[in-house]
Amino acid sequence: MAVLDLNLPPANPLGDAATERLNVVGLTRGALRDALIERCAVEPKKARMRANQIWRWIYNFGLTDFEGMTDIGKPLRARLAEAFTIERPRIVDRQVSKDGTRKYLLGFGPGIEAEAVFIPDVGRAGALCVSSQVGCTLTCTFCHTGTQKLVRNLTAGEIVAQALAAKDDLGEWPSGKDDRTLSNIVFMGMGEPLYNLDNVRDAIEILSDGDGVSISRRRTTVSTSGVVPEMKRLGEETAAMLAISLHATYDDLRDELVPINKKYPIAELLDACRTYPGVGNSKRITFEYVMLKGVNDSDAEARDLVRLLKNIPAKINLIPFNPWPGAPYECSSWERIEAFADIVNRAGYASPIRTPRGRDILAACGQLKSASVKERASERRRRELAAASAG
Ligand code: SAH
Ligand code: SF4
Repeated sequence: MAVLDLNLPPANPLGDAATERLNVVGLTRGALRDALIERCAVEPKKARMRANQIWRWIYNFGLTDFEGMTDIGKPLRARLAEAFTIERPRIVDRQVSKDGTRKYLLGFGPGIEAEAVFIPDVGRAGALCVSSQVGCTLTCTFCHTGTQKLVRNLTAGEIVAQALAAKDDLGEWPSGKDDRTLSNIVFMGMGEPLYNLDNVRDAIEILSDGDGVSISRRRTTVSTSGVVPEMKRLGEETAAMLAISLHATYDDLRDELVPINKKYPIAELLDACRTYPGVGNSKRITFEYVMLKGVNDSDAEARDLVRLLKNIPAKINLIPFNPWPGAPYECSSWERIEAFADIVNRAGYASPIRTPRGRDILAACGQLKSASVKERASERRRRELAAASAG
C-alpha cells in the first residue's frame, strides 16, 4: 500500500506558502522546541520554557496569534509572528441539530475538505468525531465515504485543528478540566486512521497533553476497519482505546461489507484484538456493528456475535444504519434492532444500541461533504446555463 505517497503536501499545508511560515498547530512539543531554536534563534536552554508558554496559549487558551502571548517579550513575539502561523481551518458549513449535534465541514485548502461532528452526551460529556483522511482507499459497501476516492491523508495539524475549531465554536476556552462539553475524541469520521497512523499518533499526543486540550488517551477512541498489521503499533504508540468495525460474524459476509476482510479475515482480526496492548476489563475493545435490514440482523447472528467475542474484553455498539442517497441497504426496523440488542444484552453487554444522532442534519459519515460538492456542481451548472443563455 503506497501510504507514504498520500501524505501530500508533506509538512505544512496550512502554513503560509508566500512567506513560508510554519503552522505551529500539529507540531509536537519536541518539534516546537526544535523549530523555536531553528527559526526564531531562541537559545537552546530557553527553548523548552518558550515552547511551554506558547503551548499553553494555543492549546489551553485558544489563541490564534502571537500578539496576545503577554508573558513573552515583544521582540520575540514579533519574531514568532514572522516565523509561524497558528492556523484554523475554514468552516465551509456548520449545521446544528435539534439534539445538539454539531456538524462541521472544514476546509484545509483547495479541494481539501473533511468533516468533524460534535455529539453531546457521549463519553463523559460530549465526543468529537474527527476525520483522519479526505476520502478513503477502502470501499465498505454501506459507507458513503467508501464511495469517495482518497484525496490525501490529513496532517497531524489538520486533525488537531478539527478539535480546536470545535472548541472555538463551543466556546470551550480555556480548556478547563472539569465542567467541559468536549470530553472525548473518536476517530470515526472520514478515512481509515490506521492508514495514517503517524499523523494520528502525533495528533493524539498533542490533544492528550495535560497542559492543553487535555483529552486523555483513555477518552480517545480510534476506530479501524481492521488494518491488522498496524493495530499493535496503534496500542503501543498512542495507548488509545480501540474500536473495530466488525459488522458481520462470518467471513463471506464481511468480505462483502468490509472488503479489507479478504486481506485480514475475522479470525486474524480477533487475534490482534486479544493481544492489543493494554487490553483488559478496564480497557475493553468496542465492536461496532451496523444494523442492515435482512443482511446481518438475525437472532442467529446476534448469538454468533456474542459467541465470537466470548474471550475478548469487549463492548458492543449496535449502530442503526444511516442511509444515504443510492445506498444499497436499509436500516433494520427498530423492533429488529431491539430483538438483536436483547440477545446481546442478555449475554452481559450493557446498553448496546448507539442512538442515532443528528438525523436531521445528514448524519452519516461523508454526507455533508458530498452535499457540499453537489451544491457546487449545481451552482456550476446554473452558472453555465446562465452564461449560455446570456450568450
Ligand atoms: N475507517 C474507520 C473509521 C471511520 S468509519 C472504520 O471503518 O472503522 C466510523 C464508523 O462508522 C465505522 O464503524 C463505520 O463502519 C461506520 N459507518 C460508516 N458508514 C455508516 C453508515 N452509513 N451508517 C452507520 N454507520 C456507518
Ligand atoms: Fe473507509 Fe471506514 Fe468508510 Fe470503510 S467504513 S470506507 S474504512 S471510512
